[in-house]
Amino acid sequence: MAMPQEQSTQQRQSTPQAQSTLSLAKSITGEIASANDLSSLHGVTQHGVSRRGFLRHAAAATGGVLAGAMAGSSAFASASQEQQAQEVPAGRYVDIHTHLGQVWNTYDPLTTEQLLRWMDANEVAQAIVLPLINPESSSYPLTTDFVLRETEPYRERLIPFCSIDPRTSFSGGQTGLMEMLTQYKEAGARGFGEHKPGIPMDDPRNLELYTACGEVELPVLFHLDAIRNTDQPGLPGVERVLEACPKTNFIGHGPGWWASISGLVTPDDLGGYPKGPVTEGGALDRLMDNHENIFGDLSAGSGANAIQRDADFGREFLIRRADRLLFGTDFLRPAQDIPQLALYGDIELPDDAAKKIFRENARKLLGLEMG
Ligand SMILES: [Zn+2]
Repeated sequence: MAMPQEQSTQQRQSTPQAQSTLSLAKSITGEIASANDLSSLHGVTQHGVSRRGFLRHAAAATGGVLAGAMAGSSAFASASQEQQAQEVPAGRYVDIHTHLGQVWNTYDPLTTEQLLRWMDANEVAQAIVLPLINPESSSYPLTTDFVLRETEPYRERLIPFCSIDPRTSFSGGQTGLMEMLTQYKEAGARGFGEHKPGIPMDDPRNLELYTACGEVELPVLFHLDAIRNTDQPGLPGVERVLEACPKTNFIGHGPGWWASISGLVTPDDLGGYPKGPVTEGGALDRLMDNHENIFGDLSAGSGANAIQRDADFGREFLIRRADRLLFGTDFLRPAQDIPQLALYGDIELPDDAAKKIFRENARKLLGLEMG
């Protein structure tokens, strides 16, 4: 568990943004939560953040993309909905994993407008937008600066992360690294990732980065497969990382991570999408039992496959690990097929588990405003 080691009174005030039919910044900057608002859950400290009457203003001010999202029905509508809606955008999901721009050379790029419209159409209230800067992670570098710039007019809904390749040259040792991360955080980054370098998961250069992320309180979203953040069956490297970096919260993603929902994993499975019944002894349950600082990102084909390959186990796992799992899609190109939309649209989960997985865990982990 990453225990809160700071009581920062630092507050962030977003800068009013330039003209856009989607930008509501002018009408919603203002009230700032007091430092007393700092709250802690799962050991994650929430910073004081600007508090905005977002929904009310949005519903009144726009007839465009945002209003569509506001009108999206919540699966958990209640008498307190209006109260809650003043704190965070309405919608069934917070998506922990999306990208903007062109990820692979054979894909069409995804624009910010397209992402927002897709969110509106699918009850996604907020989406985390992840840079991709490791050369193994995409055909083109999608830099932190690009993600910060693209999300800036829409920070109520588009939540940027930052990334630094572990092989990057920098000066100043660990202090220099922390200063780089702090600059990204002050520019709006709420986490670190998608971390997808072609080195071992527990490589010393990775450990240095993870430690710095823990110090500045940025959760690390990592992709693990047969060539990125490599590990062995049973994920001993992930376990070493969790032990070495107890202050850092980690969010696991990718084929190797999700194959490890099961026991009897082969090295090939770490790069694939194994089918069939889940067997006992899966590394994910072991890691979550032993460490409070590990979470799971349900996005992409790997996340969908892990839940669908053995439907009974999958549903039971969702309920049993409802405090550790985060809804996500890996939406990154127009007209992409997203298996999670059907899967989590149909699945019947207890309300408490559903709202944690679909929205609340991400908001708590990232310190987003809560109702
Ligand atoms: Zn991704």
